[in-house]
Amino acid sequence: MVNDAHCHFFSTAFFGAMARQRSSSSPGSPAGLCRELQWDDPGTPEALADRWVRELDANGVGRAVLIASIPGDEASVAAAVARHPSRFVGFFMLDPSADEAPARARHALTDQGLRGLCLFPAMHHVPLHDDRTLRVVEAAASCPGAAVFVHCGVLSVGVRKRLGLPSRFDLRLGDPLAVSRLALAFPHVPFVIPHFGAGLLREALMAADACANVHFDTSSSNGWVKYTPDLTLAAVFKSALAVAGPSRLLFGSDSSFFPRGWQRGIFEEQSAILDGLGMAASERRLIIGDNFDRLFPLHARVQPKAC
Ligand SMILES: [Zn+2]
Repeated sequence: MVNDAHCHFFSTAFFGAMARQRSSSSPGSPAGLCRELQWDDPGTPEALADRWVRELDANGVGRAVLIASIPGDEASVAAAVARHPSRFVGFFMLDPSADEAPARARHALTDQGLRGLCLFPAMHHVPLHDDRTLRVVEAAASCPGAAVFVHCGVLSVGVRKRLGLPSRFDLRLGDPLAVSRLALAFPHVPFVIPHFGAGLLREALMAADACANVHFDTSSSNGWVKYTPDLTLAAVFKSALAVAGPSRLLFGSDSSFFPRGWQRGIFEEQSAILDGLGMAASERRLIIGDNFDRLFPLHARVQPKAC
């Protein structure tokens, strides 16, 4: 069974936040923004969750990580997870500089039933070695079963570009070597670096070599391979397997909006690469789905008492 470790939950609250970022004085409605983008209006979180389930069913996907993709939107993903707990694992983006960020992380990972804290240091301008980051990672670490996702490397948010929103990201801050420092401090916490480090492959491999708890997700088209002459995605998989092994790679698609829906093309491309590498069937299964189930066991919730 295929499980997808990286999908975005573009809720009505997400589009509302985008509209406010574009114009705080006259933001317009989330539905109006969707019309402009020629994307489907997500409706309520429950309606969007049901649509995702239909989409996963149509593509033979068992479970998926849904990421609340704007700080403050934990409730939308929590509603989706509560409605379909056997299908969704909830992650949430958190700005470590926000008021009460550690308490917010704990609340999301306990009461709201989410399982992954997502850090975007380049977007939020909070370095990974900053104490504010440490405090939120500590909060996640105090919740057994929680994972920490850290976006590294090049960061480009398609919807922001489409809407003409400025993206003043500080790309220096997304360094996988800084993730390794956190991963060493919290060895029982699974850390996930998406897109093999998104351009910082060498540093991501070094982090994975140094820390047995650093994982990669394989999501997106991985267009960053263009930064290294002649690098292919097949060669990236080969290097990642040589350093981290098959138990630390998680298939992900980076699907986000409708009507496009689940990105089957990404799965087919990566599936063909795995076939070409001549892996044992059991190793292939780890990447495609079993690692996901090991990190996020069905019906296991983060334990509130321990936090
Ligand atoms: Zn993504």
